[in-house]
Amino acid sequence: MLKRKHLWWDELSKEEILEDVKNCDMAILPIGATEQHGPHCPCGCDAYNAKGLAEKVAEKTGAMLLPLLPYGSHPYHHWYMPGTIPLGYETHTNVLCDIIRGAANAGYKKFFILSAHGQVSTTLVAVHKLGLEGYFTLSAHWYDLLRDNQTALETPMTHADEAETSMALYLYPQYIDMSKAVDDGGECLINDEFMIKPGMTPKPGQMYHFEGTFARPEYIELKSGVIGHPTLATVEKGEAIVEKAVSLISDIVEDVMERFPAGVQPPVK
Ligand SMILES: [Zn+2]
Repeated sequence: MLKRKHLWWDELSKEEILEDVKNCDMAILPIGATEQHGPHCPCGCDAYNAKGLAEKVAEKTGAMLLPLLPYGSHPYHHWYMPGTIPLGYETHTNVLCDIIRGAANAGYKKFFILSAHGQVSTTLVAVHKLGLEGYFTLSAHWYDLLRDNQTALETPMTHADEAETSMALYLYPQYIDMSKAVDDGGECLINDEFMIKPGMTPKPGQMYHFEGTFARPEYIELKSGVIGHPTLATVEKGEAIVEKAVSLISDIVEDVMERFPAGVQPPVK
């Protein structure tokens, strides 16, 4: 339950943070990206999605919100695309680790890195590096938590598509111009039957989309910068996705806090 007067760490004084950590010592680090999202969406989509989800989870659970990280790491094929500003893999991993280490100095003992952008290549490395140091850290990409349980959607989540545009229409419609939305995409270098796309339930014989060099560079391959069907997006679908993801993430946060109440360090080391 939320007891402090503001949601975000950067809106609170040191005294207010030290008081609130006695109530809940789990902190969420929302991470996005600065990345082109086609002609109809802003380049901050993934950062705004992470922010919107994190705020709702914090309101529900009382978890602290560490300041949003608006830059992310990217798969190799995103690089050099105008509008997209990737951090290097080592840079991003180090930033994630440094933020968790710094927040721990105020007494936080449980961390949840909440990503709204495909950056598994660095979130996983950060989690394991932090584990070696004894930090309890979870990381999740919201769409992977939904798996195939996206009842409101007609297409699996990809990029600037039905899912992301629906969330945008729900969370920040002022930045969206649906008159410019086009359905588009690129070709996979392997048969895409073998690929677990974001949010899909894995089946035998499939690889995750981040487990190979499956694509040509986006700046060569993509015309509009969209992969998927943003023309199918609606506010109602956005609300359904956001509320389902918030509920799933909140369940995890609440379960951790029940197992390890405030002040108790999960025995990682
Ligand atoms: Zn995105």
